[in-house]
Amino acid sequence: MRDEKGILFILSGPSGVGKGTVRKALFDQDPDLAYSISVTTRDPREGEEDGVDYFFKTKEDVQQMIERNELIEYAEYVGNYYGTPKAYVEQTLEQGRDVFLEIEVQGALQVKENFPEGVFIFLFPPSLEELKNRIITRGTEDEGVVRNRLSEAKKEIEMMDAYDYVVVNDDVHAAVRRIESIVESEHLKRERI
Ligand code: 5GP
Repeated sequence: MRDEKGILFILSGPSGVGKGTVRKALFDQDPDLAYSISVTTRDPREGEEDGVDYFFKTKEDVQQMIERNELIEYAEYVGNYYGTPKAYVEQTLEQGRDVFLEIEVQGALQVKENFPEGVFIFLFPPSLEELKNRIITRGTEDEGVVRNRLSEAKKEIEMMDAYDYVVVNDDVHAAVRRIESIVESEHLKRERI
């Protein structure tokens, strides 16, 4: 029997590990998956679009959403708020579509409290040295921000044990294939019940 509700997948991991790149490649491959667009108070980067990459909001807007309980989780990350709107996730799961969140570790741990049935995937860098290079060569931030992101990344890696799966991102397409087999096997598990 096909399960009726969609499954919530949480793709998380340290800054610079390539969550965004893997998520985009996954969605190119599997257009039936639904991506939950987050709200953020950070400024858009070049090429980013409101309502596609993020919903860009003021701090007051996000604080109001928090007070009204409109976010599943939120985190303050390197001086900005990031959060997942609740309505989209709940409605899309109800429609039977799988939803992917791409969020940092503090937020993922909050989702675990509210959606214990979610599937938590930790994207892991090939090595810490590689992660450091990726954060530095991204080049969109100043030195202070790079330092903060690195120290955040080290703390985030310590949280890996709370996840259901760890996927090494040594190659984007290999990482996507690993995530696709997780999606498939989670559906099979639920169909057996
Ligand atoms: P960036 O500023 O590079 O787009 O994102 C910074 C970090 O925030 C990344 O690790 C990204 O995955 C995470 N992030 C994006 N959206 C959300 C969200 O809704 N909630 C949380 N907790 N983290 C998010």
